Amino acid sequence: MEKLKKGDQAVVLSGKDAGKRAKIIRVLPDKEKVVLEGVNVAKKHQRANQKFQGGIIEKPLPLHRSKVGLICPHCHEVTRRRVCSECGEPLDKVK
Ligand SMILES: [Zn+2]
Repeated sequence: MEKLKKGDQAVVLSGKDAGKRAKIIRVLPDKEKVVLEGVNVAKKHQRANQKFQGGIIEKPLPLHRSKVGLICPHCHEVTRRRVCSECGEPLDKVK
């Protein structure tokens, strides 16, 4: 599988969030994981401290890259390559 990059539009392929589409906000190359905005969110109670007034924090947890597909920004089809298998456009190409 080809590289996933921060800022790519991605879709979750398996698990409880399957079918969700979101932007990649973080890449963890050594763990082969990515973090998608608002996906696989863990809610955590946080006590008040100097920086934070306390409450529930929502934190997206990393997903393994094998569970994530890319979305072509040109034709919006799911692809696993950086050159779209549907329309042939490179994902990195700016419109
Ligand atoms: Zn395409």
